[in-house]
Amino acid sequence: MAENSDSEAAAISQHALSYRPASINGEFLGKHIISVDQFQRRDLDILFDAAAAIRKRIRTHDRGLTELCAGKVMASLFFEASTRTDMSFQSAMRRLGGDVIAVSNGVRFSSMYKGENLSDTIRATGCYADVIVLRHPEIGSSYEAGYYLDLLNGRIDNPTVAISGGDGIGEHPTQALLDIFTIFDQKKSLDNLAITLVGDLKHGRTVHSLAKLIAYYDASGVRLCMVAPESLAMPADITDLVEAHGIRVTQTEDLRDVIAETDVIYWTRIQEERFADGAEYDGIKDRFIMTPAVMARAKADAILMHPLPRKHEMGTRSDHDILDADPRSIYFEQMENGMFVRMALLVKVLRGVYV
Ligand code: ASP
Repeated sequence: MAENSDSEAAAISQHALSYRPASINGEFLGKHIISVDQFQRRDLDILFDAAAAIRKRIRTHDRGLTELCAGKVMASLFFEASTRTDMSFQSAMRRLGGDVIAVSNGVRFSSMYKGENLSDTIRATGCYADVIVLRHPEIGSSYEAGYYLDLLNGRIDNPTVAISGGDGIGEHPTQALLDIFTIFDQKKSLDNLAITLVGDLKHGRTVHSLAKLIAYYDASGVRLCMVAPESLAMPADITDLVEAHGIRVTQTEDLRDVIAETDVIYWTRIQEERFADGAEYDGIKDRFIMTPAVMARAKADAILMHPLPRKHEMGTRSDHDILDADPRSIYFEQMENGMFVRMALLVKVLRGVYV
């Protein structure tokens, strides 16, 4: 949080706690993208069709893409570190012909450094941009953005939509969108897949969004396995939600129980920055390490995903090199897909057009 801010400026308001973003219901135009709770199967199908079409148009050097968001401005407002989310959104907007303004490293260089609260910073940005991509360490920050932008949009001519780039340990909705797009790419369907999430399922916002979005897709026969130490288990409200959608959930601390049966292995980093106690992190950081020897136990047609960045949870640098050469490792494709899915999302929320 901002160095000079008092607790009032740092806090997420009560309004954010009760704010519910609109469901997509087949229509993206003008809607904030704050949580995967806004999506149903049909919305994903629409978005993925657009992302696949955009990918094809990029690969065939279609110059018409730059007309899709010409004249639109995206603000990149990042108060936490990012490589992929920030760059893929910026690249997406530029490839669509739009412009980008950025307060990356927002804590240091925005007025939040002077103690401005998030809702004011959001509304200032909303005066200049058509879409704001926000990453912020507080859970609920993207809800705060949605609530205050709705107020602003009622007063100014040029409405602005918010897209969450991750709110603390809450959610990372666009990561989950690109993750499921990638699973479809590789497996063609979610039906009957055994999907295993491994690592820091407590603090990992990507797996929170992914587990829920898998449930909302309502595929048949999906099994979700959560592999984590007890202290880093998936929050119970998410496992309950997933089970309520008829998905069989297995929780274990031992990957060997499930790896041989798994179709999609989703590895995650232990989120060091979320631990208040460094000793607790040190005690747990080596619990799950993906190495070539572990991967040797996986199915021949399994896929290995990771939202990245990776650290020692994928072994040493030479383990990385061996894993990277394994055709089952698809995290580079996953990363690239992030840009196509984010392009599709920008076109949909800003223009609503078919691509
Ligand atoms: N890049 C992802 C995120 O922002 C995953 C991670 O940081 O471990 O949540």
